[in-house]
Amino acid sequence: MSKHGFHDTIAALATPNGIGAIAVVRISGADAIRITASLFRGKNLNTVDGHTIHFGKFAEHDRVIDEVLVSVFRAPHSYTGEDSAEISCHGSPMIAAEILKALVRAGARPAAAGEFTRRAFLNGKLDLAQAEAVADLIHSENESARITALQQMKGGFSKILSELREELISFASLIELELDFSEEDVEFARRDDLKKMIERILEFIIPLIESFNRGNVIREGVRTVIAGKPNAGKSTLLNALLKEEKAIVSEIAGTTRDVIEDVMHLDGISLRFLDTAGLRETNDPVEAIGVSRSVEQMKKANLILYLFDLSCATASEIETELESIKKYGVPVIPVGNKMDLASTEIKSITASKGFILISAKHQEQLETLKSKIMELFSNLTLRPGELVITNVRHYAGLLQTREALERVLEALDQKISGDLLAQDIRQALHHLGELTG
Ligand code: GDP
Repeated sequence: MSKHGFHDTIAALATPNGIGAIAVVRISGADAIRITASLFRGKNLNTVDGHTIHFGKFAEHDRVIDEVLVSVFRAPHSYTGEDSAEISCHGSPMIAAEILKALVRAGARPAAAGEFTRRAFLNGKLDLAQAEAVADLIHSENESARITALQQMKGGFSKILSELREELISFASLIELELDFSEEDVEFARRDDLKKMIERILEFIIPLIESFNRGNVIREGVRTVIAGKPNAGKSTLLNALLKEEKAIVSEIAGTTRDVIEDVMHLDGISLRFLDTAGLRETNDPVEAIGVSRSVEQMKKANLILYLFDLSCATASEIETELESIKKYGVPVIPVGNKMDLASTEIKSITASKGFILISAKHQEQLETLKSKIMELFSNLTLRPGELVITNVRHYAGLLQTREALERVLEALDQKISGDLLAQDIRQALHHLGELTG
């Protein structure tokens, strides 16, 4: 172990730093209960059972810090697998900090980021897939991301994979058994059954592989580009969309505005606007560079809002631009801006094509635009129990598993000998095993 020993007792705030109804301070390690008991005025926590909750005062010497509820967990029946306690206090950052400081003065060490989860993992409480999902959960920025992380944490993903792996293992051993009897030309493992089982595994993992892109969008937000000619109103629209967001953001003291500035939260999904720096520099002197940069961004985007100026664009210009943007293969929402200046004619032509008409400057019809975006991404809302891959490592592992399994199928079709078949199965098992930890 490094200088952060595995056997000392660690403590940290378990709830977000800020004002809430309650805050929870967590402590875990061999001395967790003794340290908590030394600061608790009520029952003697040293003698209580695990999985019990106790009301009392939390006090350092004579100084009462707060009235608290302490949940006591005894090893191995806790999140980390160690003795631990959770101290629920009133949700002021100051009270939680005082409790944490008192615990540290009494012998605990402040936990490093992710340390509780790491201990849970090392104590066999979580497999790696789950441990990573917990980290995702802690870092998830929006509701959908939180649900995804939660589902993985519940172990649904790794549980099913382990079951499938078990089945495959029994096939592999039957085939290896055949090899021992190779003289006698017996077949213990029925090839048809093996084929069916592999198809079943593929049926499970292929949607997971496909869910990766979706999962990424959920976690990182919909990468959105506002495209259109200079003066179409791109910056105005961006500012209008981000207006409420900024009002919220600026109220949160200490948040890095640069980071959150260009993200908009819509009912459980986030839009992350790309290339907004380019948008803000009006009158870009090197127009050509600006354009090629936008092309790169458009290719990377999950959504393009194509903005045109209703007061000067003609229907055929709009059509041509739209066609050229569509070739990036990214969903496009055509949006006509400056509705307030537009002729009735162009309004009715564009509206009849189902385009959305807005006025960015006067903030008209922005709600319609937002519902259109939601409609497009409503499939991002997760159904209960649905599994989604968000982690690159899982994705890579699933791809390798699929490849190996497809090789097994091929080998079966070509009636390849048992020893080569066994080798391919071993390979698939290896990748499946890596996934489940
Ligand atoms: P960009 O070059 O595409 O980023 O365009 P800007 O956002 O800088 O807007 C160009 C001009 O159009 C500015 O003077 C805006 O005030 C104006 N503008 C933007 N949206 C509207 C609108 O809905 N109605 C009107 N009348 N003017 C608008």
